[in-house]
Amino acid sequence: MPRQFRSAWLKTLATLAALLLVAGLLGALLGAPATVVALAALGILAWHYWRLRQVLRRLTARQRWETADGTGVWNELDRLLHRNQQEMRARKRRLIDMLRSYRAAAAALPDAVVVVDRNTQRIQWFNEAATSLLGLRHPVDMDAALVERLQPLPLSHWLAGGRNAEPILDASSPVDPGIRLHLRLIPYSDHHWLLVARDVTKLLHLEQVRRDFVANVSHELRTPLTVVHGYLDMMDPEDFPDTGPMLAEMRKQSQRMAQLVEDLLTLSRLESQQHTELDTVAMSSMLASLRREAEAHSHGRHTIVVEDTADVDLAGSNKELHSAFSNLVTNAVRYTPAGGCITLRFANEGDGALLAVTDTGYGIPANHLPRLTERFYRVSSSRSRESGGTGLGLSIVKHILGLHQARLEIHSEVGRGSIFACHFDAEHVRPRSAPLSPPSTEAPPA
Ligand code: ADP
Repeated sequence: MPRQFRSAWLKTLATLAALLLVAGLLGALLGAPATVVALAALGILAWHYWRLRQVLRRLTARQRWETADGTGVWNELDRLLHRNQQEMRARKRRLIDMLRSYRAAAAALPDAVVVVDRNTQRIQWFNEAATSLLGLRHPVDMDAALVERLQPLPLSHWLAGGRNAEPILDASSPVDPGIRLHLRLIPYSDHHWLLVARDVTKLLHLEQVRRDFVANVSHELRTPLTVVHGYLDMMDPEDFPDTGPMLAEMRKQSQRMAQLVEDLLTLSRLESQQHTELDTVAMSSMLASLRREAEAHSHGRHTIVVEDTADVDLAGSNKELHSAFSNLVTNAVRYTPAGGCITLRFANEGDGALLAVTDTGYGIPANHLPRLTERFYRVSSSRSRESGGTGLGLSIVKHILGLHQARLEIHSEVGRGSIFACHFDAEHVRPRSAPLSPPSTEAPPA
C-alpha cells in the first residue's frame, strides 16, 4: 500500500475511533452509552455509504473527476481516480492521434487500399485512391459486399483462395478499362483482409514498348543477317588462302548473331503469349529425338543415357516443350567435358511428371543459381561464347515452362555436375496411349 494511502487510512481509522469514543462518553453522560454509540456507528456507516454511492455514480456516469482537497481515504480515492482518469485520457488522446495519422497516411497512398471483413467479405474502410481506381464512393459503399461492388473484377474465386490467393497481375479497373491494375490480397488479422490495387498502366505500357522494340530490332536484323550469312556460306575459305581464317571466323560470328536474333524473337513471342494449346506430347518420340540431338552435339564425346519410367505423356505444345528440353540437353553437352555422362530421365512424380537432365559437367557455383534464368546471365561469358551460347537459353526454358504451369528446379555442384529438373502438375499429364515399353536405361554403344 502506498505511504500516503496508508496515512489516510490511519487518519480515517483514528477519526472513526475518536467519533465512537465521543459518542460513548456522551452516551455515558446521558445514561444510554450503547444506544448513542449505535446511533453514531449508524451515522458513520450512512456517511460512508453516501460517499461510496457518489463514487459509483460518477464512475458509471463517466464524469470528469475533480481533484479532492482534504485528508481521509475517500479524498485519497478521489485523488487516485482523478490521476487514473487523467492518464487514461492522455493515453486515449495519443491513440486517437496515432490512429488519425495512420489513416491519413493510408488515405494519402497512391495505391487503392480497401479493408475487408474476412467473414462477411464486406467493405469496412477504403482510401481516396480506391475511389479513383476502383470506383468506391463514401459513404454508400461502406459495408457493401466487395465482390458485388467490384463486379467486373474476377474477385469471388480469388477471395476464396484467402491467404494463398496469388496476386492478380493485370486486371482492368471498373472505372476505366484503360487503367490496368495489379491486385493483392493481404490477410493482416484473423478478421480482416487488406485489398491493395496498384495502377500499373504505365509499367505495362513500358514493358510492351520494350518488348516491341526488341521484337522489331530482331526482326529488322534478321534479313540483313540472312544475306550476309548466305554470301559468307558461298565463299569457301580454301579459295582464299590469305583471308581463309578470317572468313571462317566471320562465318562463325554471323551464325552466332543469327542464333541470337532467333532466340530474341522466340522470347518476344513467348512473352506476348498468355497460354498455350494442350496437345498430347508423345514422350517416347520426344526422348528419342532429344537423344539424337544430344548425340549430334556430343560427336561421341559423352555417354548419353535415357531413362523413361513414366506411364504418362505430357499435355502442352510439342514444339515449345521440345525447344525447352532441347535447350537443357544442349547446355548439358556444352558444359560437360569430354568423357562425361548426360542422363535424360522422364518419370512419374505424384500425379504429375518430371523431366530431368543430369550431367557430370563443370557445375555452377551456388551464388549464380538464383539468376541463371535471367536474359544474358552467364556464369562464365567466355565459356558460354566459346560453346556458341547466346545467354538466352534458360530464359526461354523458364518462359515455356511458365506457359505450362511447370517449374524449373536447378541443383548443381561445382566440379560434379548439374541437374535441371522440370516439374509438371497433374493437369499437364495424359495417360500414355501406347503400351508402356519396359523401363529403358539404355546407353548407346560407346
Ligand atoms: P548460354 O547460351 O550462355 O548457355 P543459357 O541461358 O542456356 O545461356 O545458360 C545460362 C548460363 O548457365 C550459361 O552461360 C552457363 O554458364 C550456365 N549453364 C547452363 N546450363 C549449364 C549446365 N548444364 N552446366 C553448367 N552450367 C550451365
